[in-house]
Amino acid sequence: MQLLAAYDARYRRLRKEAIDAHLARFGAVCPGYGVLPHTATKAELTVDHVIPVADGGPSELWNFQVLCGTCNRRKGRATDVAVDRPVSSGPAPKSARGPLIA
Ligand SMILES: [Zn+2]
Repeated sequence: MQLLAAYDARYRRLRKEAIDAHLARFGAVCPGYGVLPHTATKAELTVDHVIPVADGGPSELWNFQVLCGTCNRRKGRATDVAVDRPVSSGPAPKSARGPLIA
C-alpha cells in the first residue's frame, strides 16, 4: 500500500530532520497556512507534504513544509504551499513576545 510506504522509518527520519532544521532556522514558529505566521511549540510542528501523499507526493525534503498540526489540517489535500514559502525562504519571523494569531 503506497500510503503505508510513504510513512516508513525513512519518512520519520526526514520528518525529524525537516522539523529540526526549521526550529534551528526559525524557532518555534509555524509559517501559517491561511493565517499569518504564529508561534507554535515544537510538539505542535508537523511536516506537511506539499503534494499530498494521496496524490503521489513523495516523502522527500523538497516536498516538505513545516506547519503546525492545525495549519496542516487546514491545508488538507491542497497542493499549494503555505504563506510559508516567503517565510521559509526569507528571514525568520521575529520571535513573538505574545500570541500572534492562534
Ligand atoms: Zn500553524
